[in-house]
Amino acid sequence: MLQVAGKKVAVITGITGQAGSYLADLLLSKSYEVHGVLRRVGHLGQAAHLASRVTWHTLCMEDYDQVRQLIERVQPDEYYNLAAVSFVPRSIEHPLETMSVTGMAVVYALEAIRQLHLPVRFFQAGSSEMFGKVCTAPQNEDTSFRPQNPYATAKVLAHNSVQNFRNHYGVFACNGILYNHESPRRGPEFVTRKITSSVARIACGLQSQLVLGNLDVQRDWGYAADFAEALWRMLQQPEPDDYVIGTGKLTTLRQLIEIAFDAVGLTGQDKVVVDPKFVRPPEQVCRVADISRARAKMNWNPTTPLEQWFREMIQHDLRLAQAELAGRQAA
Ligand code: GDP
Repeated sequence: MLQVAGKKVAVITGITGQAGSYLADLLLSKSYEVHGVLRRVGHLGQAAHLASRVTWHTLCMEDYDQVRQLIERVQPDEYYNLAAVSFVPRSIEHPLETMSVTGMAVVYALEAIRQLHLPVRFFQAGSSEMFGKVCTAPQNEDTSFRPQNPYATAKVLAHNSVQNFRNHYGVFACNGILYNHESPRRGPEFVTRKITSSVARIACGLQSQLVLGNLDVQRDWGYAADFAEALWRMLQQPEPDDYVIGTGKLTTLRQLIEIAFDAVGLTGQDKVVVDPKFVRPPEQVCRVADISRARAKMNWNPTTPLEQWFREMIQHDLRLAQAELAGRQAA
């Protein structure tokens, strides 16, 4: 494939998801030629608005030959691996698929880069979930992983493989250990989006309750668009490294619920219901990021305050709920 002179070329897997689509927005704004990897033809998900601006490739990332062919044809400067089975309960239901997609697919891409002797810079999206039953807070790049589910275990396999390929074969490969990142593009099964969607629908009279699991959770929640900038900066550094990416600030689920109801002029007291179906084992030590390295080496900071992006999510879901209500009334 011929590259336009001077234009950087990037491959993004997981481009149809939240983080991948923000990364594509960012790279296109920097005039990159962006190649998006799809698992199913035509399923563009959160990247639908980029349909005509991205070159699409449909392939199975668990097939080494297909991944190698893609890299050989596109010869990207940068390869961002964001594809994964990313919802923890789903990973517990599908351990084989999770280990394959979230773990082994990363090894295939790294091995293809090694075999082809191409100067591709590789980014791997890791997760704070890898810390699992963590003993210390905040966590940094040296904190031990104690993964507690197939998703986290597969991410640790990928993380360690990135380090192996960097140390043994000199591949320019970086790990981002990403804390929870949210936006209006977040999937509806994740808790922030579940809250904003449910509260918006309650405000429009479309449902009566917000049904959740553990309410006493605290997390380090950041804004997905801010994280995209961190991913890009990692691959612009003179040397590859691993970086913890988060905000360093904890927010409780109860605070999020309060902000959401406040934003629509309601109180949540009688509307929040706990269903044991959504309860997970409690986290003994909080997961909160120490982002000193990202600050010091990449001059990266999370710039969008939680209240701002969370209210953006609520406004987005209010528009969806209002459209649903109008559709019902018209029917
Ligand atoms: P995760 O960090 O990738 O697992 O992101 P989630 O948004 O799925 O979960 C974040 C936290 O919210 C976890 O500690 C969950 O236990 C907690 N939580 C509480 N109620 C719910 C719920 O109804 N759905 C989800 N997804 N999480 C919930």
